[in-house]
Amino acid sequence: MYNPKSLKAEEFINDEEVKATLKYAEENKHNRELIESILEKAKPRKTERGTECAGLSHREASVLLACDIPEMTEKMYALAKQIKEAFYGNRIVMFAPLYLSNYCVNQCVYCPYHYQNKTIPRKKLTQEEVKNEVIALQDMGHKRLAIESGEDPVNNPIEYILECIKTIYSIKHKNGAIRRVNVNIAATTVENYKKLHDAGIGTYILFQETYHKQSYEKLHPAGPKHNYAYHTEAMDRAMEGGIDDVGLGVLFGLEMYKYEFAALLMHAEHLEAVHGVGPHTISVPRLKRADDIDPDEFDNGIDDDTFAKIIACIRIAVPYTGMIISTRESEQCRNKVLDLGISQISGGSRTSVGGYAGYSAQERPHDTEQFDVSDQRSLDEVVKWLMDLGYIPSFCTACYREGRTGDRFMSLCKTGQILNCCHPNALMTLKEFLEDYASPETKKTGEELITRELEKIPNPKARKIAKEYIQNIHLGKRDFRF
Ligand code: SAM
Repeated sequence: MYNPKSLKAEEFINDEEVKATLKYAEENKHNRELIESILEKAKPRKTERGTECAGLSHREASVLLACDIPEMTEKMYALAKQIKEAFYGNRIVMFAPLYLSNYCVNQCVYCPYHYQNKTIPRKKLTQEEVKNEVIALQDMGHKRLAIESGEDPVNNPIEYILECIKTIYSIKHKNGAIRRVNVNIAATTVENYKKLHDAGIGTYILFQETYHKQSYEKLHPAGPKHNYAYHTEAMDRAMEGGIDDVGLGVLFGLEMYKYEFAALLMHAEHLEAVHGVGPHTISVPRLKRADDIDPDEFDNGIDDDTFAKIIACIRIAVPYTGMIISTRESEQCRNKVLDLGISQISGGSRTSVGGYAGYSAQERPHDTEQFDVSDQRSLDEVVKWLMDLGYIPSFCTACYREGRTGDRFMSLCKTGQILNCCHPNALMTLKEFLEDYASPETKKTGEELITRELEKIPNPKARKIAKEYIQNIHLGKRDFRF
């Protein structure tokens, strides 16, 4: 029986409810009146508390996704842009992945780190190597990392992950610092989530891969990850362990996207119903070629247009949730989806263990790579590109460091307050990047952008303080925030 409040995976991601949703969406996909009313419901509204959005249920959002009337799709895109603009403005938060270890006991059939892959070299960073990777990432300008690891209780136990987090936060090289470590490791126990929380992690990210239980079990034939319920209920354990910010995602290409989409939103509704706060982020990875993995062997690949529509519909359905796109996607694809709802992107990424230190921006080791990187530009190039497109690349980590996580972050977001401090924070962290790491060309573009964007801060007092902080950054001081 479907029950969003249940703590049992098969009840909050209920297969019958997903199928009934897909049937309802199919039956109504040309129902213009209904589609118009769903779009109307999702529009941002001004209230005395600020700007608010109602969001959509998984059924309503699934009708939008199923609808193939071009004129309606255009309306969806326009609304997604409007919502993105209302809550995220033109800021795009930057991050990079850091692969710690590719030892893995699982057998995910789409991942080259699977246990049976005997040809891929296995590597685990020592603390000295972690330090070198972090210095290389700091020298690029990164302030926010997502650490990645295979699942292996012997080689990468939780103690190893915790030690790496401690090392990462401890390194201060020149003006560099990693101020937020997000963690993407396998589902674990409440006790381990408590340890991660105590280590000061940002978001705990875990991709569901697929919500379809039978497919899930086939795609994960052995190893601890085979257990669908344990994996699907992980976010509840993470929240029980004190982690406020959790990041969902499915790996598009494994199962039917409409199924994944409805279930992903049901998962978000479940978190809201049980914990009073939805997911902090949703990632939208697509299956990629990798060592012994050929994405063409999977039947459910989606084209760029469908991908864009999924992103727009997620933006409309869960307006306050950040959305992440990685370098799995090309520059062209990222360009297309940025203003449909993406709020975070990675840049200058390496998906191999030890892929940063000792390599120039043009060199990339392939031996331990988890998947092929499509967008191979350097961070400086990505930052310049974003600015040329009118975005503000942001290295901000202020909310989490000010304790604005979980529902505190969400209420800030919901009342539109986020725009009052995020905009100057983005500009100040961009200024740090320009001062310390940017090429002359990027710096020139950035300085002009900052001058323009500072004038957009509505509150005169905040504008004045932001200008002072920016001047102080120019004079060598660092780490200001609202
Ligand atoms: N081992 C952890 C787990 O199982 O959740 C950490 C995740 S892994 C390092 C990061 C993510 O990469 C996986 O959750 C999966 O969605 C994605 N991934 C694996 N193989 C991939 C491929 N061939 N193409 C694109 N993404 C892939």
